[in-house]
Amino acid sequence: MCLIPGCPLRCSFCATGKGGFARNLKRHEIVEQVLAIEDVFKHRVTNVVFMGMGEPMLNLKEVLEAHRCLNKDIQIGQRMITISTVGVPNTIKKLASHKLQSTLAISLHAPNQKLRESIVPSAKSYPLEAIMKDCRDYFLETSRRVSFEYTLLAGVNDTIEHALELAELLHEWGRSYHVNLIPFNPVEGSDYQRPYKKSTLAFAAALESRKITVSVRQTRGLDASAACGQLRNQFQKSPLLTGAEDQQSNSEIAVSC
Ligand code: SF4
Repeated sequence: MCLIPGCPLRCSFCATGKGGFARNLKRHEIVEQVLAIEDVFKHRVTNVVFMGMGEPMLNLKEVLEAHRCLNKDIQIGQRMITISTVGVPNTIKKLASHKLQSTLAISLHAPNQKLRESIVPSAKSYPLEAIMKDCRDYFLETSRRVSFEYTLLAGVNDTIEHALELAELLHEWGRSYHVNLIPFNPVEGSDYQRPYKKSTLAFAAALESRKITVSVRQTRGLDASAACGQLRNQFQKSPLLTGAEDQQSNSEIAVSC
């Protein structure tokens, strides 16, 4: 399903970013991914996430057109569509101005600017404070809750202290937030490790103790809540899933852009 145009942002844990950037997809190429899935699996797609192999906000015009087509022509509800981003300056405001009823998911991965820059180099041009302000404004503009994706990297960003710092950050900027924890899916050639399950659960419990709503995703290739950059391994090694176990995922897909 995934065409691979790559991504120029080069997040340190991401295999897609390591592969460099070829081009952005056109709106029809994005929509065709959904149509192809429906055709192959004979199953209606009901949830779509713009994410995973490429940064939607660097291709916002085509993403918005594809969003319109998915909603109006293919009849996928706006609330069933998520736009996931690592954060590109000035684009969250632009997205908010369209007042879509879709979820904004921010691939955060760190509770402070210094650590975030080491994981997401493009964060240098978009300080955490500016992202959080734009997320708060997105909620005020659209009334849609913002979701934060947090890939847990063993020994890097997965301690209780990190969790408490994250809770503090979120409380500082509002209440309508949800955190998706994604234990790192090992990528070939990466120095990062997947955390132990007990670390993941302790991290989640620390967030919950501070009244942050949190879910933990055990990543599968097509889990639509997987963070950006956590799909390539699965897609490239197993481009199409065929087992019965994966049937339930077919209605919920991530599209590259
Ligand atoms: S994690 Fe997402 S934004 Fe970062 S390099 Fe990978 S595809 Fe690009």
